[in-house]
Amino acid sequence: DNKPRTEDLPVLPPGINRSGFNIAIEQLKGLVGNENVELNDQERLEDGWYNEHPNTHDSFHLLDENDLVSSGAVYPGSTEDVQSIVKWANRWKIPLYSISMGRNFGYGGAAPRLRGSIVVDLGRRMNRILKLNNKSYTCLLEPGVSYFKLYDEIKKNGYDMWVDPPDIGGGSILGNALERGVGYTPYGDHWGTHCGMEVVLPNGEVYRSGMGAIENSQAWQASPYGFGPYLDGIFSQGNYGIVTKMGFWLMPDPGGYSSHAITFDREEDFGQIIEIIREIRVRHISGNVAQLNSAKGELTFRYTKKELGIKGNVMTKEDVERCSREKLKHGPYSWIFFVSFYGPTEVRTLSWNLVKKMMSKVSDVHFYDEKDYADGEPDNFHIHHESSMGIPQFIGARQASWYPNGSHSDFTPVSPITAKDAKQLLDLVYRLQDKYQLDSFPNFVVGVRDLHMIDFIMYDKKDPEMRRKAQLMLRELISEGAKLGYGEYRTHLALQDQVMNTYGFNSCIHRRLCEVIKDAVDPNGILSPGKAGVWPQWLRGKGWEW
Ligand code: ADP
Repeated sequence: DNKPRTEDLPVLPPGINRSGFNIAIEQLKGLVGNENVELNDQERLEDGWYNEHPNTHDSFHLLDENDLVSSGAVYPGSTEDVQSIVKWANRWKIPLYSISMGRNFGYGGAAPRLRGSIVVDLGRRMNRILKLNNKSYTCLLEPGVSYFKLYDEIKKNGYDMWVDPPDIGGGSILGNALERGVGYTPYGDHWGTHCGMEVVLPNGEVYRSGMGAIENSQAWQASPYGFGPYLDGIFSQGNYGIVTKMGFWLMPDPGGYSSHAITFDREEDFGQIIEIIREIRVRHISGNVAQLNSAKGELTFRYTKKELGIKGNVMTKEDVERCSREKLKHGPYSWIFFVSFYGPTEVRTLSWNLVKKMMSKVSDVHFYDEKDYADGEPDNFHIHHESSMGIPQFIGARQASWYPNGSHSDFTPVSPITAKDAKQLLDLVYRLQDKYQLDSFPNFVVGVRDLHMIDFIMYDKKDPEMRRKAQLMLRELISEGAKLGYGEYRTHLALQDQVMNTYGFNSCIHRRLCEVIKDAVDPNGILSPGKAGVWPQWLRGKGWEW
């Protein structure tokens, strides 16, 4: 039975006994040094916290904490180390799971999808900024470079360039781009701004993509495409290689910046707001990846459920109104839109005036500048203000603390930016929130033509019943969302098979093609088995899929 389980720690990789495993581990230590191999031989797993998270399991467990558990971790110091680890794994048929910094919270953290895999933690020792070019505004990074680290290096050198952090800046730039995460400056599409990568393939060979495939390449970070088929895509959310270097384009300081908040009193104006946001984004009237947040979502940044004095399972309309009035600056409101402008003052003023004119069609709308947030405690506005100008933040790490032992996992469907689409998804979330009696906190991240709903489902990870409900709710959101024609852009390890199978066109041709590629490039099926629902032949259809 390969289904989620709670007993038998410490775990072994599938198909190997304890004495075989011990010999394999001794060999691994011989390859990379004793101090760079850790066995997960604890009887009890410690969840740690954001900065000191474990490589042993998912510290935001959605399943039982003993389910997504590694048998150990290895810390390579170079591309050559990664090659020898991969060759070792092939010899023993021991599955690996590669992470950069493992701060992928809400989606599985540092945990492997397949119980008993060895986690390859690249970030601990491979954390150099290999190139930082202030003329072409490009960089080449190892997996352990966080947004904070690159930000500090740029400041130290006095360069006029920005980074683009996601909600929390402590994670890996490379890892977040591979997961197709987002930030809030004009460079908010993290995958879209990468340029060139170095990858150790499952057979141990080193591949360089784009212009990097030229010997002694002079243009690796200048153009992403190179010649012939463009293969970078298979390494994002994929299990076809371990990425050891990645290039990025960085945004030149635009020489001027301002950000604003727009609040909307009436919940029911949501559709009209979305329609106007589409016009603003598709015409690039605002410069950045914008955010439309619910008052509920905003409250979670700073308060716990207890602090807000909420009694029922799900916040009532009255709760939201009261808390939003008491706790949110310029509250009460139902929705808040954060929007930023870049460049010379004249351009920014013109754009902001245009946005105000467009949004004035909504009744009960209020417009705010930076100065309206100048007094009193720093507010969520300041987080958005700073992250939209490339300053990494930390406060997002608090968001999970709604309940004691707070965890979250997110429903992340992608839709066009229309009232009809966004309303269908919002109605779905509210309907299932009532059915499962679990609060959910929808926010919307607006690309250029795409709307990513990021709906936080919060739970107390020490409460099995609440965890069960969270999982069931997420599963129903995924299947109901798919029936309406929407798919998730990213999901927790435990839900990846389900999401992959919602991409069901032509009898799941997407998954089937991924499997063909998997079997060709990783015939022993050692690399991140099950990642994104792609299983290698030896494990496929053997009951590992959930
Ligand atoms: P972050 O710390 O930025 O949140 P993680 O290191 O947790 O990012 O990476 C998120 C996911 O991306 C991992 O679970 C893994 O599936 C994939 N990943 C991360 N780094 C690599 C890498 N260097 N090579 C291949 N896959 C990776």
